[in-house]
Amino acid sequence: MTTETRTTSLLDRYAEQAGLDAIEQLRQLAGLLTGLKVVHVNSTRRGGGVAEILEALVPLQQELGMDTSWEVIEGTEDFFSCTKSFHNALQGKRLDISRGLLCEYEEVNAANAERLRPVLEAADIVFIHDPQPAPLLTHCPDRRGKWIWRCHIDLSHPYRPVWKFVRRFLLGYDASVFSLDAFAQPMPHSVYLIPPSIDPLSEKNQPLEPEVVQRVLEEFGVDPERPLLLQVSRFDRFKDPLGVIQAYRLAKDFIPSLQLILAGGTAADDPEGETVLNDVREAAEGDPDIHVLSSGHYSDRTINALQTGADIVLQKSLREGFGLTVTEAMWKGKPVIGGNTGGIRLQLVNHRTGFLVDTPEGAAMRIRYLLTEPDRIAQIGQTAKELVRHNFLITRHLREYLTLMVALTHGNEDRIELG
Ligand code: UDP
Repeated sequence: MTTETRTTSLLDRYAEQAGLDAIEQLRQLAGLLTGLKVVHVNSTRRGGGVAEILEALVPLQQELGMDTSWEVIEGTEDFFSCTKSFHNALQGKRLDISRGLLCEYEEVNAANAERLRPVLEAADIVFIHDPQPAPLLTHCPDRRGKWIWRCHIDLSHPYRPVWKFVRRFLLGYDASVFSLDAFAQPMPHSVYLIPPSIDPLSEKNQPLEPEVVQRVLEEFGVDPERPLLLQVSRFDRFKDPLGVIQAYRLAKDFIPSLQLILAGGTAADDPEGETVLNDVREAAEGDPDIHVLSSGHYSDRTINALQTGADIVLQKSLREGFGLTVTEAMWKGKPVIGGNTGGIRLQLVNHRTGFLVDTPEGAAMRIRYLLTEPDRIAQIGQTAKELVRHNFLITRHLREYLTLMVALTHGNEDRIELG
């Protein structure tokens, strides 16, 4: 297969999902970036949202004519223990990190810079993802390109001493990107807001055959013929699984055939997760129509099948950043009942693509309303899908990266001509 046919086919596949206009916009912007050397750097090739996004983004950028590569920094156990602590402290935990670990962070970056310096200094654009590789810039004195710090975490309430330490490595950057306004910190350079996205071609978001969906539901003891509520999320108090059970119970008084799945796991570094899960099990006890799926190792295809098989998806969070599960469900044409908080307010248009709720009672009222109006379920689901198509697919994410790259590379010109 030639590069040309592969190129066409990947963009064509996205065009089928995102629309031809979206691909045309990408081509126009990319026209100003042809041949540019672009490097993304993060700290893992697999696992986690950043790797997932890069896996889709890098080939797309390549096929749009940019000379794009993806580098991964190599670290030691102490390095990752330090950056794990950064992750928690920058998201609000009071956590002092030992001098030894901080030195390891700097040394690992210095060692990686030795290896990566030729690529990084020659690049026109460097995207550094999250704090792990942030100090690389300080080791590239002869860099010729623009450097962007892409922050994927919630920096709204960082533990100050740790933020102060990390921030000094970011001072030389040309721009920073945050996912939401609420997540950002003031920086000494331009700050851009680019919300996350989902990949419509991934296992989690591809359309599934109805038989596959039915088989997965039956495997978990769910009756595909009866109405089904679903919440997919870690067992975490902020995701309010107990509130979901309460809402289900209130609605079930009126719709006795109702079923509920709570699917997710507990994060290995979250000791509270087990407690929450036990509370959930206790609250669900004695009701065979509540299915608590808690192994947390469900494949993307299984999660996809559950989201596709549900009638209504809940994400009744009490606190949330950008809730990927909300967008995933909307892409499957599901009305979402979401907590009236954080990024969910941006993701979901109240009354048009679902409902924002503040209480279990509010959620129960919306569940009852939707389940007695099947046409409304279909209509809201369709609107939800279109909203995602235009705003939350990876093509929009890429379009905003390209726009940022154009701004950084052509910003001094009087006029910028798009194709
Ligand atoms: N997820 C999953 N399996 C689970 C629970 C969650 O694959 O058992 C996925 C879910 O589909 C979503 C992500 O993990 O893609 C969770 O992201 P979200 O932003 O909703 O919540 P977070 O856990 O980051 O707060």
